Amino acid sequence: MPQPHCRKPRLGAVVLFTLLAACTTVPITGRSQLNLLDPSTEAQLGDQAFAEVEQKSPISHDPAANAMVERVGRRLAAASGLKENWQFIVIAEPKVNAFALPGGKVAVYAGMLPVAQNDAGLATVLAHEIGHVMAHHSAERISRSELVEAGTNLASGVLGGGNPQSQQLLGALLGAGATFGLELPFSRQQEYEADHIGLDLMARAGYDPRDAIAFWRRMMAQAQSGAVPELLSDHPSDQNRIAELERLLPEAMQNYRPA
Ligand SMILES: [Zn+2]
Repeated sequence: MPQPHCRKPRLGAVVLFTLLAACTTVPITGRSQLNLLDPSTEAQLGDQAFAEVEQKSPISHDPAANAMVERVGRRLAAASGLKENWQFIVIAEPKVNAFALPGGKVAVYAGMLPVAQNDAGLATVLAHEIGHVMAHHSAERISRSELVEAGTNLASGVLGGGNPQSQQLLGALLGAGATFGLELPFSRQQEYEADHIGLDLMARAGYDPRDAIAFWRRMMAQAQSGAVPELLSDHPSDQNRIAELERLLPEAMQNYRPA
């Protein structure tokens, strides 16, 4: 049955089999999405982008920061049901930002931790970012961008070292734009969807979903004070978002099992 949100792409060279397999269903929300990348290709792209991030970024060896990110990240990863090769790093930069790449590679900038304040605050951010991975938002974005072929070639090593511009674009499409110097926000629909999945995920991992509202209020307060956190430059945060989280809270509370 045709789905209103799953249109065929304007790609001449895509084989019929790919088109038939192109619609997938997002977990939790049940939305039908266009997805022309198989999960292993998407994960390979994520791993390649992450290798670049690790090369370009100062890695933090602060034991407390790393322990916190590992502790919260592993619990969310286990609850996500994704069998990825998870890896968590802290980048020693003051940006208030974090991202999770397909394939399970997660980075938190050191500046995020004072705003997160505690495990539940950090769980809010990481559950949202892992929500983008669970929903294959990167693959969906690449599928809509006519970069499917470039992505597949990059993943299979056809481009070798790769054309720097297409690598930068793919890094941005995957959600690591802050590091690649090319911000490319997820769509508003994808952001609301990551909030929805993230709220459910943090609850199932044993973090009180009510703390998500407190966290986003802290982020809003930061933005209103004039210092707009990097996370908000590509993640909309406003009263509508808080209202939507409050609407979804009863559903998430049903899945909340205090750790
Ligand atoms: Zn997001």
